[in-house]
Amino acid sequence: MPQRHDKVGSVYLLHFDRPLDGGQRPRHYIGWALDVDERVAKHLAGDGSRLVRAVVAAGIGVTVARVWTDTTPVFERALKSHNFGPMDGGLCPLCAGVALEALPSLADLEARRRERKRLAQRERTRRMQLASGVV
Ligand SMILES: [Zn+2]
Repeated sequence: MPQRHDKVGSVYLLHFDRPLDGGQRPRHYIGWALDVDERVAKHLAGDGSRLVRAVVAAGIGVTVARVWTDTTPVFERALKSHNFGPMDGGLCPLCAGVALEALPSLADLEARRRERKRLAQRERTRRMQLASGVV
């Protein structure tokens, strides 16, 4: 029996027309399914995740913003754990207001994330040096 994480299906990104909590930013949900259409229909019927059920119950529009086909739940977890800060613009064409093809690739996003981390580390080191009198 193949394990769930070995299964090949699609990762989908749901975009909510407005945030549930009244905040300014749109919200998203990332999920994986063998059959995205079927899974999304379940979500919309209130038979999916608790978050999407609450969003639908609040009358908020839900759009499938993006689908990564031929992917496993491992990829879903990777997308979630990358925690791309600007997931709202980096992964979602609706939020970015651009065509899907114009979005940065995952590799680009990952490179940007690494660069931000590197700069933050450098800044921390600089502050520590200043604090300790080493300049
Ligand atoms: Zn979006």
